Amino acid sequence: MVDHIHRSHFASQLNETLVGQNVSIGGWIEDARDIGKLAFLIIRDITGTVQAIVTGHDNLQLLKSTPRQSIVMISGFVQNSKAKGFPVELKVEVLNVLSRSTHPLPIDPTGRVESAIDKRLDSRALDLRNPKVAAIFSLRSEALQIIKESLHSKRFIEVNTPKIIGSASEGGANLFSFPYFKKKAYLAQSPQLYKEQLTLALDRVFEIGPYFRAENSHTVRHLTEFISVDIEAAFLDYEDIMDIIEEVIRDVALGLNERCSSILQLVTDSKKIVTSIHKSRIDRLTYEQCLEELAREGEKLEFGDDLSDASLRKLGEIHQGFYFIMDWPLKLKPFYIHEREDNSKLSKSFDLQYGYLEIVSGGRRQHDSSKIRARLIEQGLDPANFSEHLKAFDWGMPPHSGCGLGFDRLMMTLTNSQNIRDVVLYPRDTDRIIP
Ligand code: ATP
Repeated sequence: MVDHIHRSHFASQLNETLVGQNVSIGGWIEDARDIGKLAFLIIRDITGTVQAIVTGHDNLQLLKSTPRQSIVMISGFVQNSKAKGFPVELKVEVLNVLSRSTHPLPIDPTGRVESAIDKRLDSRALDLRNPKVAAIFSLRSEALQIIKESLHSKRFIEVNTPKIIGSASEGGANLFSFPYFKKKAYLAQSPQLYKEQLTLALDRVFEIGPYFRAENSHTVRHLTEFISVDIEAAFLDYEDIMDIIEEVIRDVALGLNERCSSILQLVTDSKKIVTSIHKSRIDRLTYEQCLEELAREGEKLEFGDDLSDASLRKLGEIHQGFYFIMDWPLKLKPFYIHEREDNSKLSKSFDLQYGYLEIVSGGRRQHDSSKIRARLIEQGLDPANFSEHLKAFDWGMPPHSGCGLGFDRLMMTLTNSQNIRDVVLYPRDTDRIIP
C-alpha cells in the first residue's frame, strides 16, 4: 500500500549521493512551470526546496488543476540537474495531492508580493511559509534553547509559577482581571513575587513564560502578552546579575552565529548577528552619568526625572548597541528594589538598553520585610494586600537579586526587526486578539 504520510527525506537532504534512488518528499507547491510535455515543480518544505520534473498525461492533468501552495507528496528517482541552485532533481513517478489550497490566497507566502504586517498577521500560519518569516521563529527557538543552556550552566533551575493569580503582584495598575468562580482573579504581569520567594529554598531560579499587561500602549515595542525570561538568585548582588545577563546575551549572539548561520543570512542578510556584544563588555552608565551626557546634548533633566524615549534615543546614538543604565533614583523603582547603602536616594537597579529600547530591568531586592512594608506605604500600596508574599520574608530570606528580560524585544534586536509583531507568532495588542 502506498503511504501518503511518511516522506523518506526532507528537501535539504537530497544530494548527489542519492542519484538513482527512489525517494519521497512532502511539501507544498511553491512554483509550477508547464512547458507542454513536462512541468517543472518547485516543492518547498521547512528545510528548503526541491526541483521536480513531472511527466505523463495523468500527472500533468492533475497538476494543471492544482493551485500553488497545495500540499503534495511526490516520489520518484533522484537525478543530476542542470538547473541553477539544484545539483539534483526529482523525476516524479507518483504525484499525490494531499490538500488543495484555495486560489487566490489572502497573501503571497513566497514574499514576491509583499503585504503589510497586519494583513500577514491575519493569515499568520500561511505567512510562515515565507522562509524569511519562518527563519525568525527558528532563531527564536534556538535562542530560547541557548538561554536555558546558559542559565543551567550557572546553576539556575527552571521553574513555572502561576499565571492566574489572586492578587495584584506589583500594585494594581496594568492588570487584566476576570471572574474566577466566586472570586476575582488576575493574569500575572510578572513572576516577581514568586521568584523572589523561591530563592529562599531553590537559590537560583529562572522562568520563561508569558506575562500580561493591560497597558493602552500603541507602540512597536509593547504587547499585552509578551514572553519574559525572569531570573532570580540568592546571595548575588545586582552587578552579578548584570554580569550574568551580559553572558547570557553573549551566549545567544555567539550561539546563533555558530549554529544558525544560514537562517541568519535569510533574516539579516548577514551570516553574523550584528551586535558589538561579542567584542567588548557592555557599557555601564549610571543614571547620573546619563543626565550629564544628556545635558551636554542640550537636554536638561532634574535628578528624579524619568528618561523619555527621546532621551533614550539620544543616549542610544552615543552608545551604539547594548548599554546598561544603573543606579536609578529609588523613587522611580518598584517597592521591592533595594537602596544603595552609600546613598539611599539611589537604588541598586539597572536597565539594559538597546538604543531607545529597554530589554532588561533588574536589581537587588529588598529582603528586610519591615523595609518592604515601609516602601509599600510610601508608594500608596497597602501591605495587608501583600501579606501572602511578606510572610515568606519571616522564614529566613537570603539577600537576592534578579531581572526580567523581554524575550520578544531581545529577538527584535537580534533580527534587526523594527516591530515586535514581526518576531511574535500571534501578537496580542489593544486591537488584536485574533487569530
Ligand atoms: P517599558 O518601560 O518599556 O514599558 P517596563 O518598565 O514596564 O517596560 P518591566 O516591567 O521592567 O518593563 O519588564 C521587564 C522587561 O519586560 C522590559 O525590560 C521589557 O523588555 C519587557 N516588557 C515589559 N513590558 C512589555 C510589553 N508590554 N511588551 C513587550 N515587552 C515588555
